[in-house]
Amino acid sequence: MICCKECIDLLYDYFEGSLDQDTTQSLDEHFQECPPCVAFLNTYKVTTVLCRDTLNQIEIPDEVRHTLKNFLKEHKNE
Ligand SMILES: [Zn+2]
Repeated sequence: MICCKECIDLLYDYFEGSLDQDTTQSLDEHFQECPPCVAFLNTYKVTTVLCRDTLNQIEIPDEVRHTLKNFLKEHKNE
């Protein structure tokens, strides 16, 4: 089973549609059981430009939050 960190790491590719079918399915399964990741997923879908204020309004574990911030830092200029 995929973990939150892997989930976030793969999210960019997930949106790009560049993941293989098995990995995409693993992510879909994870989203069904992990509300924090779904919350991020939905926010990411609505606005591709996330700021820290938005992140702070989502109730997610600190570890995930930290990963998300790094993720956004890496991708915000793309
Ligand atoms: Zn998760």
